[in-house]
Amino acid sequence: MKAIGIFGGAFAPFHNGHLRVAIEARDKLDLSQVRLIPTAHAAHRPDSRVSPQRRLEWLRVAVRREKELVPDDREILRPGISYTVDTLEELRRDFPRAALVLLMGSDAFEHFHTWNRWSRIVELAHVAVITRPGSEPRPSAETAELLVPRRAADASMLHAQPAGLWLPLEMPLLDISSTRIRRLLLQERSVRGLVPDAILNAMTTADIAALTQDNDATQH
Ligand code: ATP
Repeated sequence: MKAIGIFGGAFAPFHNGHLRVAIEARDKLDLSQVRLIPTAHAAHRPDSRVSPQRRLEWLRVAVRREKELVPDDREILRPGISYTVDTLEELRRDFPRAALVLLMGSDAFEHFHTWNRWSRIVELAHVAVITRPGSEPRPSAETAELLVPRRAADASMLHAQPAGLWLPLEMPLLDISSTRIRRLLLQERSVRGLVPDAILNAMTTADIAALTQDNDATQH
């Protein structure tokens, strides 16, 4: 069975940490594609000053040469809050026979029970928890009853059924975050090496101004 990865985020901006997650997940889980989905309106954080369309354009230039990485505009096209569960319902309709694999940071996994309709998410997709080598993600107390018995022994199990399992996906994490990049830009320092060159070359003065106005760049 084909497996499709799903990786969502604000991507304000998309950076090399995100890029490595998508590429390593593709290679380690043998995914036929990874769909990169910029969030239009997140539930628990203010919208970026950079429009979702512009964040999608950055994705497009960044992954132009990585064929199996596919920018996906479905959250941008949907009105209201961008709930992952709604995105997965749509993807399940578009890809009825594929395994879907939601890529999630281990911090997000710890708070998974706070996600809108989280148990439905596991009916629609598998979850791969991006983990530092040597650390072991654990389901929170609230999700343990459902998730402990659903831990996959290895990645091949994700190809044997369309949804319903989770597993840790170990990879060396790059010490990069969009917050750090916005802060560097605010200080008029270089972000080369942190952000794909294609994005840097496409970034306008207006883009940089918008990024530096995103709240947390100015708070620290
Ligand atoms: P911010 O600093 O604005 O919170 P971010 O860099 O964490 O942004 P998001 O767009 O919020 O990026 O992240 C989307 C997903 O990418 C999240 O699941 C996050 O855990 C993951 N992620 C972000 N940076 C890295 C990294 N360096 N390595 C692995 N995963 C990352």
